[in-house]
Amino acid sequence: MVHHHPVLLEEVITYLACRDGKNYIDCTVGGGGHASQILGKNSPTGRLLGIDWDREAIRIATERLKRYGRRVILVLDNFSNLSAIVRENAFGPVDGILLDLGVSTFQLEDAQRGFSFRFEGPLDMRMDSSRRETASDLINGLPARELERLLRTYGERRWAKRISRVIEKHRQKNVITTTTELRNIVHSAIPASFHSKRIDAATKTFMALRIAVNKELDNLKKVLTEAVSVLESGGRICIISFHSLEDRLVKEFFRMAEKGCTCPPRLPQCVCHGEKTLHIVEAKPVSPSRNEIIQNPRARSAKLRVAERV
Ligand code: SAH
Repeated sequence: MVHHHPVLLEEVITYLACRDGKNYIDCTVGGGGHASQILGKNSPTGRLLGIDWDREAIRIATERLKRYGRRVILVLDNFSNLSAIVRENAFGPVDGILLDLGVSTFQLEDAQRGFSFRFEGPLDMRMDSSRRETASDLINGLPARELERLLRTYGERRWAKRISRVIEKHRQKNVITTTTELRNIVHSAIPASFHSKRIDAATKTFMALRIAVNKELDNLKKVLTEAVSVLESGGRICIISFHSLEDRLVKEFFRMAEKGCTCPPRLPQCVCHGEKTLHIVEAKPVSPSRNEIIQNPRARSAKLRVAERV
């Protein structure tokens, strides 16, 4: 039985200041790990709105959270539609929002979803299976230059060119269809002396594809703005990210929201009249303890940032 350990669980519960009567939104409800703890703390009257765009995640969360009855609403949707979801479900006032980005263990360990090079499966990688474009479409369909750019932009900085060239060579003969094929191709593109024992040489290529297939950074940008608009004054937003592109986006968004003004520094006085909307609660991101990382290797790269609506 697959089990997903919620990352930075105690920290999230503490920063969200979960208590009776407060309402929370879990934008990435997944297997309901964080959500069930939140519901344990905001009982007997607080409510939770859980969102996920993966039908299987909503099925698992529904089962896991059914004992909380009417205190829970689960919605199958992209979290980038947050304010519409809140409106349609007449949910509020919103006292806290959680985003635990990336993929869940359920998704990662299901060979058929194609997220992991550890199992043979189709090159899919869609978290929302109703989306059109799969990883295979990108790998087999993008012009080599675009593929190179995609890999470089989303994390494979060093070998993007070599990898995309080798992919190009392979796909001229045969369509590349499985995770294992792609992994072998990437391995052959990166010189053996650069393969590390600890981290598979295909890791960054797989991550870059996943980010592109799911438009992860676009969705994150959109939800940040929406989260600020639905949050009550004093309510908090907690974001757990798993790679530096996400973390940088969150950090910069929080900084701008704390500053309010977006005028270029050369202007003698503010003309944008931007309002300060967030207060950053911890200047440095919160990382998991060594103990947590030993127990749950997925936590290794996690970073939690917390801000409060002013
Ligand atoms: N905190 C959860 C695990 C979350 S894993 C738990 O403790 O069980 C991340 C989840 O976010 C996945 O289920 C994934 O499908 C979902 N997700 C990622 N991006 C999303 C998006 N743009 N909209 C909705 N859900 C998303």
